[in-house]
Amino acid sequence: MSETSTSTTNGPDAGTTPEPSRLTFDLDVDICVVGAGLAGLTVALEAARLGASVAVLEGRHVGWNASGHQLGTVMPGYGLPIADLIARIGFEDTREIWTLSKEGAESIRANTSEQLMPGIALSEGALEVSNVDVGDQLISRLQMLGEDFETEVEGWQVDRVRDHLKTDRYFHGVYYPKAFQVDGRKYVHGLAALARRAGARIFEETPVVSIDSSGIRKRIVTPSARLRASHIVLAGNIHLGAPLRRLSRTLLPVWRYAAVTAPLGERLAEAITFQGSVTDTDGIDHFRIVDGDRLMWASPETTWNARPERFAPAVARRIRTIFPQLGRVEISETWGGAVGHTVHGMPQIGQLRRGLWVTSGFGRQGMNTSAMAGRLIARSILWGDERWRLFSPFELVWAGGPTGRVAGHLIGIWGRGSSAAAGALARYRERARAKDRQRDVRLAEANRQAGTRPPRPRPPPGQPRPERPGPPATVPSGEGEPAMARSQESENFTPGPV
Ligand SMILES: Cc1cc2nc3c(=O)[nH]c(=O)nc-3n(C[C@H](O)[C@H](O)[C@H](O)COP(=O)(O)OP(=O)(O)OC[C@H]3O[C@@H](n4cnc5c(N)ncnc54)[C@H](O)[C@@H]3O)c2cc1C
Repeated sequence: MSETSTSTTNGPDAGTTPEPSRLTFDLDVDICVVGAGLAGLTVALEAARLGASVAVLEGRHVGWNASGHQLGTVMPGYGLPIADLIARIGFEDTREIWTLSKEGAESIRANTSEQLMPGIALSEGALEVSNVDVGDQLISRLQMLGEDFETEVEGWQVDRVRDHLKTDRYFHGVYYPKAFQVDGRKYVHGLAALARRAGARIFEETPVVSIDSSGIRKRIVTPSARLRASHIVLAGNIHLGAPLRRLSRTLLPVWRYAAVTAPLGERLAEAITFQGSVTDTDGIDHFRIVDGDRLMWASPETTWNARPERFAPAVARRIRTIFPQLGRVEISETWGGAVGHTVHGMPQIGQLRRGLWVTSGFGRQGMNTSAMAGRLIARSILWGDERWRLFSPFELVWAGGPTGRVAGHLIGIWGRGSSAAAGALARYRERARAKDRQRDVRLAEANRQAGTRPPRPRPPPGQPRPERPGPPATVPSGEGEPAMARSQESENFTPGPV
């Protein structure tokens, strides 16, 4: 397993992790889970609740990687857009797996009451904002989500988005009233506590170095003990390594970094009044207010592992780009974790061979999807529920090794660059339209005072002047037509797809 970047000083795990307990004796269980992140712990919790004997083996400690360093936003759906899902697996199956993703989110809600996880701080609502001005697409998206996929959503016009987020960077928005957020970094430890309470045994500092999954009873080897289990669930994400190297190679590792600012006082309330999570449609920014007047913000990504504190200036700059009125912001904590992206963009959920399971590749949206996967796998092992097969079309595809990482990095840069360019173009067009409107008003006023029609545009150099039209029968008011002609002109100024 390679090293991963976690938090800087005063890290999120401080004070929340119980003493690690290493496995030092041999054990026989029904289910052995490899990895104590969100994916492994949800399988353990669900299976233990259904009565199985479960051992979780974690090479470092609970929530060591992404699961202990995420922002806690729980939304329905997947990293892959619905339209792409429909194209790949058809409408009916897309509806089914969408419903499963909502069930995953609701199972998190059921586990995150203050009673079950004290201090988890659940709050409601998430807003997905667009970096470009595509109101027409918003309507069809709302219709699809609301009517076809029975997801509660509200469309927010630009003005409403900007009432809550005072920036010209964002245009329309989709509000998810049923989405919610919790203290993401506490959640993984709460999950471990619930799994332990349900009877699962979690062993930390216990890396799995090899598995033999050929027999009915499978063998699992760690440096200090051996296990036998009827089922092995591989939930090691990009760090799985030796137990099944070919599986790790189907994931493109991407390190994502986040930060929280020092208290920003009143100026934050003036810039942002929305209290839930905000994500943009290009997956670049993800933020929300925490502790009343601090901003928690995830943004930069790399395809190599780096120290999170190096990204503090980048996060501060990004915040200032979106909300310049906040001025200089001080970053008080940074952290990061590696997420695993699959080539097709969907998680890996299913059975590789009899009794050998995989739950991985959750990318940036791992909360609801890993919760859903945990339920599906536990229910299949114990109840024979076969719905995990809905994920079979998303096979294990090699992610391209080091070359894949370089390509992934370049695609990431290109994607961010092109969405930044699209955003800049959308804002340019918006400013141009506003200027046009102002000019038209001034022109109309000047015409009204002079009692004339607006001057005709000069022909380009080298072209003959068109014939002068005869005097109009009546003097027009000067309003309406010129504005429309100009706004059409600016509408037509579209050098590329927006
Ligand atoms: C900054 C950031 C913010 C995010 N915010 C959100 C968010 O708001 N909402 C959301 O839905 N998602 C979010 N995500 C994504 C989410 O965190 C991940 O998708 C999810 O945590 C993946 O969980 P996992 O259990 O698959 O992997 P991991 O968290 O990587 O856990 C895998 C565990 O397996 C262990 N392991 C690996 N190999 C072995 C082995 N051989 N033996 C023993 N143990 C092993 C590792 O040590 C590790 O602890 C965010 C991610 C980041 C980085």
